[in-house]
Amino acid sequence: MALPFTEEQIKRYSRHIILQQVGGKGQRKLLESSILLIGAGGLGSPAALYLAAAGVGRLGLVDFDTVDLTNLQRQILHRTPDVGRPKVDSATDTIAALNPDVRVIPHPVRLSSENIFDIIKDYDVIIDGSDNFPTRYLVNDACVMKGKPNVHGSIFLFEGQATVFMPGQGCYRCLYPTPPPPGTVPSCEEAGVFGVLPGIIGSIQAVEAIKLILGLGHSLAGRLLLFDALDMEFRQVRLRRNPGCPVCGDHPTVTQLIDYEDFCGVPSVAHH
Ligand SMILES: [Zn+2]
Repeated sequence: MALPFTEEQIKRYSRHIILQQVGGKGQRKLLESSILLIGAGGLGSPAALYLAAAGVGRLGLVDFDTVDLTNLQRQILHRTPDVGRPKVDSATDTIAALNPDVRVIPHPVRLSSENIFDIIKDYDVIIDGSDNFPTRYLVNDACVMKGKPNVHGSIFLFEGQATVFMPGQGCYRCLYPTPPPPGTVPSCEEAGVFGVLPGIIGSIQAVEAIKLILGLGHSLAGRLLLFDALDMEFRQVRLRRNPGCPVCGDHPTVTQLIDYEDFCGVPSVAHH
């Protein structure tokens, strides 16, 4: 099972391999693992870079957007010459230059109730770096229904949050049963966002995903981590599974994917 590493790999991953909690076995596990990133934007960028550097063998990227000049203030997968290119193409090049061990699977599509099951089925862990409510509820429900771990992150102005939804232990709907009324939460485009902020939250998502793959430490499952960049403060609140949750509760009423734009009262928009 444990294939030998090439000499280059032994060097590349040496700082992991000498870690007692990772070792050659853990590094091999990472190389054989697969993670899907929803969004190659603000959160997906740092997450993808660290996961690629760590040697996660297969990285899926879902994003239908092209690189815009306004993205470069925070979306560090992309470079100035990439403006106008599909984000999945730009991200693929960046990751290939960082670590040729990583196979990038581009999914240049708009995630929907029709295609999400087919996309998530091939991955061990899902990282949600989307920036809109229809996608978040869609990803949540699909992960609950297919039993996939969902590493959630979101950012707003100078604040961010992250948690892990493990199958059977609660979900995004337990935390937020209904989306906010349309128009009450402005997007990054409308309200702005502190450029480093997704770097912090997306990196936390990468940490949690790697811990899940390696079975290390205590995950954020059951806890919502809240970060305030202005006060430089981390807080956490306990999360509990809601037995009355329509998706993951004792008597679920939502047993198949619905129309999420309709549910949220807004059309889904581009990623961070
Ligand atoms: Zn739930």
